[in-house]
Amino acid sequence: MSIASVNPATGETLKTFEALNETQIDEKLQLAALTFRSYRHTPIAERESMLLRAAEILETEKNDFARLMTTEMGKPIKGAVGEAEKCALVCRYYAEHARHHLADQLVETNASKSYVCFQPLGPVLAVMPWNFPFWQVFRFAAPALMAGNVGLLKHASNVPQCALAIEDIFRRAGFPEGIFQTLLVGSDAVQRILEDPRVVAATLTGSEPAGRSVASIAGKQIKKTVLELGGSDPFIVMPSANLKEAVTTAVKARTINNGQSCIAAKRFIVAAEIYDSFERMFVDEMMGLRVGDPLNESTDIGPLATEQILKDIDEQVKTSVAAGAIVLTGGKRLDQRGNFYEPTVLVNVPLDSPASCEEIFGPVAMLFRVNDIDEAIELGNATSFGLGAAAWTNDVNEQKRFAEALEAGSIFLNGMVASDPRLPFGGIKNSGYGRELGEFGIREFVNIKTVWVK
Ligand code: NAP
Repeated sequence: MSIASVNPATGETLKTFEALNETQIDEKLQLAALTFRSYRHTPIAERESMLLRAAEILETEKNDFARLMTTEMGKPIKGAVGEAEKCALVCRYYAEHARHHLADQLVETNASKSYVCFQPLGPVLAVMPWNFPFWQVFRFAAPALMAGNVGLLKHASNVPQCALAIEDIFRRAGFPEGIFQTLLVGSDAVQRILEDPRVVAATLTGSEPAGRSVASIAGKQIKKTVLELGGSDPFIVMPSANLKEAVTTAVKARTINNGQSCIAAKRFIVAAEIYDSFERMFVDEMMGLRVGDPLNESTDIGPLATEQILKDIDEQVKTSVAAGAIVLTGGKRLDQRGNFYEPTVLVNVPLDSPASCEEIFGPVAMLFRVNDIDEAIELGNATSFGLGAAAWTNDVNEQKRFAEALEAGSIFLNGMVASDPRLPFGGIKNSGYGRELGEFGIREFVNIKTVWVK
């Protein structure tokens, strides 16, 4: 795939880039390996101040970074500004807490002294997606760099300018050259980079096929990986829930980032007692969303990031409708230039249709009616994914059941699944393994070393 910025709202090609050649890749890997040797010994206080400087740059220039994200991948500008702010937050979080997360831990044994310490591993390859083009990268980079690793970013081929801007932020923040490098390469170069002995580990945020490929290459090399893959999160609503709040949050949870979020709620599972009201209110709110220019502050839904994604969604919906699904609103692309798809609600969706069993990466919601909590949990878990899950109920016993029984990396009760620098984030089943963020995230790419003294 060529490396290019194409504005998804207009189809205009903004900039194209040549992929790095073999020699250039080699030079960057060499620089990463050399830089790691000295960077691993930098005092943590120095790393903290550089990361705080990165946070300041993100905050000061958030409007410019937001515009870059929106023109490259189409997210509504308000969300893009919020994304830049959240990147600053994760930098501040790790600047403040990494010292504590990485402190030696004394353990009482039969030794005169025994303890655990956390040491960096080396250059880590980060293969990243376009949907949150800044956030996905910073949530990897902030803890990795604080731990003393160095980063190599292979970003999605449709967001090269974001990738270069991020590299520039770290450079301007004072991180030595080679600490964080963007490699402008296509996915065909990942194998060669991952097999290189100078690269010690990899993290991939992206689709299941990409995850399988990276994990198997890394597995052969016995290199650690973290995989943050797709999801088909359930959003369950029980009779005791605050219905109005649940509906408004449900619409937001499905359509945030134009529906292109791994933790977007994708399957809405509603108790029969309140189903009809939920459906009516949900469809009304979906129909009221403003679709249009993502640079306009009042736009709710912008274009899908690429023409291919638009085609894929159109195909998934058409095939599901042919299999018996019913369209309550939307169900087609907008008849105008740009990759716009109507906010869509499907019911009567067969469980083996693409809409139900694949990940739908756009503003398409599916509603299901269930008779009780057992049925809700069974349907909620009837997916190969296990990223997040939301359940709405004010019954404490039901809350406990959902927290215990839903198969996912996170459960949000009476709220929308979202990442937070303070909390671990990741999935189970085909949504991947390993965790980002919080204390668990910074421990993924370190040598957890035991020291024992007689
Ligand atoms: P994608 O096609 O898998 O691409 C993600 C990254 O992987 C890109 O840099 C891509 O490079 C690269 N890639 C693709 N195929 C590869 C392969 N066979 N080997 C090595 N690298 C490969 O995913 P996407 O369409 O950009 O992103 C959407 C997916 O990401 C969804 O499934 C979404 O749920 C998931 N996601 C998960 C999380 C999470 O935290 N769990 C967060 C966000 C998104 P090219 O662009 O050059 O192809």
